[in-house]
Order: sequence, then C-alpha cells, then structure tokens
Amino acid sequence: MSALNLVMLGPPGAGKGTQAERLARAHGIPRISTGDILREAVAAGTEIGRLAKAIVDRGELVGDGVVIGIVQERLDRDDVRRGFVLDGFPRTVAQAQALDRMMDGADPLVVVDIVVPEDELVRRLLTRMVCESCGATAGGMDGGATPANCRKCGGRLVQRSDDNKRVVLERLRVYLRETKPLVEYYSARPTFRSIDGTQAPDCVASALVRAIQEVDGGPPGSEEGRR
Ligand code: ADP
Ligand code: ZN
Repeated sequence: MSALNLVMLGPPGAGKGTQAERLARAHGIPRISTGDILREAVAAGTEIGRLAKAIVDRGELVGDGVVIGIVQERLDRDDVRRGFVLDGFPRTVAQAQALDRMMDGADPLVVVDIVVPEDELVRRLLTRMVCESCGATAGGMDGGATPANCRKCGGRLVQRSDDNKRVVLERLRVYLRETKPLVEYYSARPTFRSIDGTQAPDCVASALVRAIQEVDGGPPGSEEGRR
C-alpha cells in the first residue's frame, strides 16, 4: 500500500488546520503542523521557542534552516511510514526544495491548495478563537457563532497572540510574497489540486477527499478509488 504524503497549501485562515486534522484522522497518519510545533516550543521555553517567539508574534517567518530542521527530524520518525499531512510547511520555495530532497525515493507528494479571498481571510482570522488546552479552533472560520467553551474538551477559548489586525495583515503580506509562489512551484505536477475554501467546512472536506482520490488512487481500503 502506498503512503499518502500530503501537503496542505493556502493562506492563513484558509482552514488548513481543521481539514488537515480531519484527513490525518481519516487516514490514520500524523498531522505535522509547524505552527503548532513552534507554539509548543514557545510554551515550553526551549531554545527554538525563545528564538521563534518574537518572529511569530510579528507575523514573520521563522528562518528556513530552523523550520526545515524541525520537519526533517519529524519525518525521520517511524509513524510517517504510511504517510503524513503537512500543515504550514513548506512556506517558502527554499522549504519546498528541501522537502523535495527529503522525499527523494518516497511516494510523490500530493499537494492541495485551499483558495479563499483576502477579505474573507481577514474576517475569519480576526474573529477566530482557539482552545487554550487542545488548540482546536472555534468561531470565525465556519461563520457560526462562537461558543463559550471548546466543543471538544470544554477548555477556555482565547485569541491567538498573532490574530490581531496588524499581525494578520502582515501574515497575509508574507503569504503573498513568500508562500503564494509555491502554487506556481507545484501546479505543473499531476498530483496538484486546488480547492474552493469558501465552502462550508464539510464541503471543503468532501472536495479534498475527492481530489486526493483522483490523484492518489483513493484512501486505504477503497477499491473504487484504485481503479
Ligand atoms: P496560520 O497558517 O494561521 O498563519 P500557523 O499556525 O501555520 O498559522 O503559523 C503561525 C506562525 O508560525 C507563522 O506566522 C510563522 O511565524 C510561524 N511558522 C509556521 N510555519 C512556518 C514555516 N514553515 N516557516 C516559517 N515560519 C513558520
Ligand atoms: Zn479544547
């Protein structure tokens, strides 16, 4: 059985995290979010965390060397043998080139780009809340009302420190300058698909499942997708 080596591209606020989580669960493979790993490092006060905090809080990108090192180490672990969902990496052409080198000899990358217009991204990012305990996102993203507590674990909902107007606009500028060129980098590959991210989360999820089936021959156990 081949591995599903999935890259989720898209601007901040596109819903990558939520969808990456669902896909990882459905395929029984890990979701690797460089944003989560960096926030955990900041919370734990490790050396990388101390280095990253100010950069993340300004909405800028942590250096390629640091992030590539994090991903390299993560992809060396045994649990990615059946695949992985990368969320938030690569974010620069240098990171994408490093990932291609890491994937030498592995199953091809499946790359999905979640497309959402900028005004909608700003609205979502400025209204979203995240769970202090489990990191789940609430409100903002799906257009629904924000609940009082986390639906998953009951934890306290807070605004992410980089979800304020000035930093959100900076993250979008950085996205356009550094990350959007990756669409060009990947789009000629037969395993690239773009998805309309303005649809309801369940519709985005089905569109992703269809796209992955098209390019990857379907999820494990699905004979239909393999034909
Ligand atoms: P979002 O996609 O909502 O902007 P993430 O959680 O993916 O947020 O990332 C938060 C921050 O972590 C980014 O703004 C950036 O500072 C840092 N970061 C995450 N992934 C990378 C990466 N691949 N390269 C450089 N910096 C990164
Ligand atoms: Zn929670």
